[in-house]
This record gives sequence, C-alpha cells and structure tokens, in this order.
Amino acid sequence: MQRALKPSALVPRGFVVDGTSSDGPGLVIAVRPVSRTSKCPGCKTNSERVHSRYHRRLADLPLAGRPVRLVVVARRFHCDAVLCGRRIFVERFDQDVLAPWARRTARLDHIVHHLGLALGGRPGASFARRLMLPVSNDTLLRVVRRRGSPRFVPPTVVGIDDWAWRRNQRYGTIVCDLERRKTIALLPDREPATAEGWLSDQPQIEVVARDRGGGYALAATRALPRATQVADRWHLMENASRAFLDAVRKSMRLIRSAIGAATINPDLLTAAERIQYEGYLHREEANAAILGLAKNAVAIKEIVRRTGHSRGLVRKVLRGQRSDVFRVRESSLELHLQWLDEQWAAGQRNGAELWRRLKRQGFRGCARVVSEWASRRRRAEKADGALNRTPSSRTIARLMTISRDALSKAESVTVAAIERGVPLLVEARELIAEFQAMVRKKSLADLEPWLVRARANLVASFANGIVKDKAAVSAAITSPWSNGQTEGQITKLKLVKRQMYGRGKLDLLQARVIGAR
Ligand SMILES: [Zn+2]
Repeated sequence: MQRALKPSALVPRGFVVDGTSSDGPGLVIAVRPVSRTSKCPGCKTNSERVHSRYHRRLADLPLAGRPVRLVVVARRFHCDAVLCGRRIFVERFDQDVLAPWARRTARLDHIVHHLGLALGGRPGASFARRLMLPVSNDTLLRVVRRRGSPRFVPPTVVGIDDWAWRRNQRYGTIVCDLERRKTIALLPDREPATAEGWLSDQPQIEVVARDRGGGYALAATRALPRATQVADRWHLMENASRAFLDAVRKSMRLIRSAIGAATINPDLLTAAERIQYEGYLHREEANAAILGLAKNAVAIKEIVRRTGHSRGLVRKVLRGQRSDVFRVRESSLELHLQWLDEQWAAGQRNGAELWRRLKRQGFRGCARVVSEWASRRRRAEKADGALNRTPSSRTIARLMTISRDALSKAESVTVAAIERGVPLLVEARELIAEFQAMVRKKSLADLEPWLVRARANLVASFANGIVKDKAAVSAAITSPWSNGQTEGQITKLKLVKRQMYGRGKLDLLQARVIGAR
C-alpha cells in the first residue's frame, strides 16, 4: 500500500474532515469546505469575505455499516459587487455534491432516487433501512417525483397503445421507443387529441406502430403526416380470427341443417352417460391409434412407447378383444321401462315419486337412476327430434380451425358434416389461413389477389376494413416493426403500478417506468 487512506477521501468532494464522533449506532463527521471562496448566486462574482458561519446537518452514505451524519460548517458571504442587489448570500457548493437546502448529500440522494425507481415507496423504504439509508416511504416518493422523468432520446420508431389504469374504467396511453426497447411516455388518457399533441412534438418520428382501433391512426396522421403507420400484427391476426367467427355466425342456419341428426349430440345425454360416452370415445381413439401403428408394421414395444399404453392393453387391442359398444346405462331399469313409459305418458313426471312407486314394486336401484331417466326424457322432449342442439358458433369456429388430430370422434363427425354442407365457410377458413400466413411470411405480393377473393366471400367486411387501412396493413406485412414489444412494456408497467400500492399518480408511474433501467 502506497498511501494511507485519508479521512477526507470518505466524505464528498470539496470537503475536509475536522473530526468524528459517535452518536449511538451512527457516525457524526464534522466537515468544512476546502474552498476559501464562494460564488454569489445573484451576480456570479466570487467572494471571500465571510459574514458568519452556521451548521448544516446532512445525511450521507453509510460507512462500514453505520449510518452517517455530516455536520458541515457552512458560511455566509458578503457580496461586494457594486451592481448586485444581494448583500449576503449562503455558501453554494457543486450541484452534484450538495444542492442548496438539501438534507442529503447528492450521492445519497442519487441512491435513494434509484431505490425509489426500482422498488417504489414502501418496499424501497424497507430495503433502504437494511442498507442503513435513513429515508421514509414518503421521502423516497418525493425524491422520485422531484427528479422527474429522465429525458429520453428523441425516437424515430415508436409503438403507441392504450393501457388500463383501472380495468374497464380508466385508460392511459403508452409510447415506446421500439428501437431502444424503452417506454418513453405515459399519457393520462387515450384521446386521439392527447396522442396527437405528444406526437407533434416529435417531428423526427418516421414509423408509428399502432392498433387498428382508429384513434391512434387519426392522431398519427394529423401529427406526423409523413410518417409510416404500421398496423399492429397481433391485432391483425386477432381481427382475422374474429372475421372467421363472424362468418360462422352468419352461417349458423346452414350449419344447423348440415349437422342434422347424424351426430350423437352429447348435450342430450345426462351427466353419467356423457362420462361413459367420453370414455368410449377415448377408448375408440386409443384403439384406432394402436391399430393404425400396427398396420404400419410398428413393433409392439414401439407402440407401447409412443402411445403410453400398457403392453397388455396393446396386445388385447391387436387381438381384437377390446372393441366396446357404447351403451346407455339403463340395465337396472330395463325390466321397468315399459311401466315407466306408461307413467310418463299419464303425466307422472317426478323422478323421486316414480322411484318411490318402483321401490314398492321391488325395484332395488337407487333414486338417481330413475331421476336421470326422467331428466333424459325431459331433455329429449324439449329437443323435439329434428332440432338437435348445435354447438355454439364459437365452438364451431374453434373446431374448424384446430388440428384434425385434436378432434374427438364426435367432433370430427360434426366438422365433416359442416364442411360438406357449407362450402362457403370452408373457403372463408382458407382465406383467413392464407391471410395469417401472408402476415407471418411477409408476402405482400399476395395481398391484392387475396383482397379480390376475400371481398366476394363471407369475410368481406374484414377485407373491406383492410382496404380502408391498406397502407398500414401493408406496412405490417413488410415492416420489421410491431407493437408486440409495446405489449411487453405494458406488462412491465402493470407490475410497477401494482408495487405502488395505489399511490400510482401518473408522474410517479412515469418516473418509475421510464427511469428504472
Ligand atoms: Zn452578488
């Protein structure tokens, strides 16, 4: 070691240590400024004529695990400049060492600020205690607020979207710099005028990625008429899926008649039967899979590995010993069905009452069997034969678009019936799939021919929407920029908001989200 550590090296720049003392767990360090002069804040003239001295007490960074309090012997100076209105001024230090009127040194304030940015008020304060930094919850938030949002580099490519202050109640707008992957502004609402105001202050922006709602498109067009707008790809994909759902909705009448009575409608079966029925489908599927593999000359051992079924079961299936027939559970009622039918026809439709009477005739089954029979009868009557209940349009849209392998047997039958009966819907599905592939593969050349076909199909209104927003949609297909990143920033924002325990005023939130890096 060449030189001993001087005490003055431990205190902020520009001060020397006069002495130290203990104050309970803390350390008190008396310091005085090195400089003999100070600059008058009014006229910037240096003065060395001291008027008086006074003590400033300041918190500083902890030292060896002990909180530190500095006692600065500061001075008041006379200003002797002839034209200066000030007669006396208090000593000024470097802003980045000690701000006027500050109660913490700048280096402590800096750490406090970053604690506040990273953790927020309450968690920040409790962490600060562990670090021997004497700050309260409110102080932390005040520091974050006072220091404000750091300036951002003027962006060239931005993503703009809304985010919920409070779900379904209050919305704000978030602006991200997509090149630097940073949030750069939070606006208090999602009014186009507010976004327009912000965007007009940033005339250098060349690309604006935005949703397809229209509000931000309008704002961007007005504020930055020369900028390229990019429709958000995620929203485009979602709009496309929704367009197919709409096509299904429009076709429900055709779908109903196409499905007809060919399918076993699980809705018409009671709960117990449905479980049985699903078990049956499940077994049938397993059997089919095993048999299919065997047909392709796959060895038993390999079939066991691929399907996860036991060796015994695979053998059984291959020997044809496991093909079961779906049977509604009525066996215990079988002897009494005729009597039950007569009662039903005579108007006796209370399951519990029927069971009591059956019991008197020697029936030994439980009440549930009878009440299930009764509810099945009721359902069957309500459904009234021909008008089988069809799955919802949402379900049909899903069944028609998921992989064939994921469909159960009954679902496959339903989908096949729809495909046979409603060819326009099959075309709509192809169009939507092509559109999504176009976005994924960035093949803009396909857009025009696609639009021609789509406008003649069930998805015409989706296609017309694309035509209206064509420049931005084309940009979405070709441009590397997308709002996907903005979604990620919104997730971060929500996290920060939650940490703030409802004290999330916009300026604080902004300071924390934009400042915390
Ligand atoms: Zn002066």
